[in-house]
Amino acid sequence: MSSTPAAEVWFLTGSQGLYGPETLDQVASQSQAIVARLSEVAGLPVNVVWKPVLLDAGSIHRQMLDANSDPACVGVIAWMHTFSPAKMWIAGLDALQRPLLHLHTQAGVALPWSTIDMDFMNLNQAAHGDREFGYIQTRLGVARKTVAGHVESPVVAERIARWARAALGRHELRHLKLARFGDNMRDVAVTEGDKVEAQLRFGVSVNTYGVNDLVAQVYSVSETDVDKLVTEYADTYRIAPELLPEGARHGSLRDGARIELGMRTFLTEGGFGAFTTNFEDLGGLKQLPGLAVQRLMADGYGFGGEGDWKTSVLLRGMKVMADGLPGGTSFMEDYTYHLVPGMEKILGAHMLEVCPTITTQQPSLEIHPLAIGGREDPVRLRFTAEPGPGIVAGLSDLGDRFRLTVNEIDVVEPDEELPNLPVACAVWEPRPSLSTSAESWLMAGAPHHTVLSKAIGVEVLEDFAEMTGTEMVTIDDDTTTRSFQRELRWNAAYHRLAARL
Ligand code: MN
Repeated sequence: MSSTPAAEVWFLTGSQGLYGPETLDQVASQSQAIVARLSEVAGLPVNVVWKPVLLDAGSIHRQMLDANSDPACVGVIAWMHTFSPAKMWIAGLDALQRPLLHLHTQAGVALPWSTIDMDFMNLNQAAHGDREFGYIQTRLGVARKTVAGHVESPVVAERIARWARAALGRHELRHLKLARFGDNMRDVAVTEGDKVEAQLRFGVSVNTYGVNDLVAQVYSVSETDVDKLVTEYADTYRIAPELLPEGARHGSLRDGARIELGMRTFLTEGGFGAFTTNFEDLGGLKQLPGLAVQRLMADGYGFGGEGDWKTSVLLRGMKVMADGLPGGTSFMEDYTYHLVPGMEKILGAHMLEVCPTITTQQPSLEIHPLAIGGREDPVRLRFTAEPGPGIVAGLSDLGDRFRLTVNEIDVVEPDEELPNLPVACAVWEPRPSLSTSAESWLMAGAPHHTVLSKAIGVEVLEDFAEMTGTEMVTIDDDTTTRSFQRELRWNAAYHRLAARL
């Protein structure tokens, strides 16, 4: 699955007519040079498109309306090269419905101390032009990211790239359709949520389909297509001998392939980018979809188990934000703990559905019993996540808002082999420690289903939260349970005050 093709971020330069055409030509050429430099910066996941220098309220307003209506435009960067009286920006900023990054920069790095004169001063006055712009954004309550520094700085470039990734994720969710095969697991609280609020806040459309609509697709798959997919499995994975064509359980592998093909057809035909399943509602499916879900996730689909559409939405969004980066992103569940003092770890897994993008090992394709679901034994991929830094993120519905909770983690090798664990897994050490992480996570009311990513970090999600007006709390090396609890209380007050009536 691909995200928005040829996504663009528009680069807007603010000035005014006061300076005369000669200076404005310099403003234009210098801002074009900034755009050219930004475009060269490694890792920008979008095209930065330069727009003519903005001099008055009418053209600013028009530009923002164009940004809103252009499907390729996922966000806007604004820089006040000179002094752009900010009342001119009120109508435009008020109309803007795209994420905004305020880039506080200037054309040159070093001051030409020995030659500096008033012409230079008049041309290079973003230092106060951007302060005027900061004021009006704050006065209007405009959500934005502010980045200060020269574009030559790798830190500046990285921060802009992270914001652009968040903007891509937000843009994807504005158009995302999610199919739920069946409802939530009965009696479970945290997988519930307000789908109307989700559509308003994120744009995603969440709807349920009878699982037998999917079953009809599964049963209409041709044997030729099953043959082809089984060959692809053999080329891609280490397959347990019993699942091979001559093996006793080859029929189960073919059933798994049929489920994958049927799901792909259903999702493709409906234009869905994310889905959920529920083991309590499998209709005529012969197996709980394991392999199929794992492979669809690897192709970029969002997924949540037990009808968990919020985690599925988050996973699809984070897959788009992470597109092209190494590391992988998966559905995950905190499963069980290693509590030996000084060696504390979390073993994360699920019944079946962990995405193989979080490993570089060749997964093994196996079949094992699964009592849950009351169907035949499901085929699944087994592997262990690659070590390295990452995050886990979870979305919960607090009744009056969504809260995104994020924990910085270090994925590690398991202490020992896990020969009897029949599913894929990840083992990690949460920061700052298992006890502080878990206490904070529980106080936040954060979910047991998460998205684990080794491709993107906290800053991308912070930018996404800002863009979507979503509360976000972070558990990292600096977290103490005392400060975290206070933050939760302040946040509760803030978000209730900030909510519209
Ligand atoms: Mn689960």
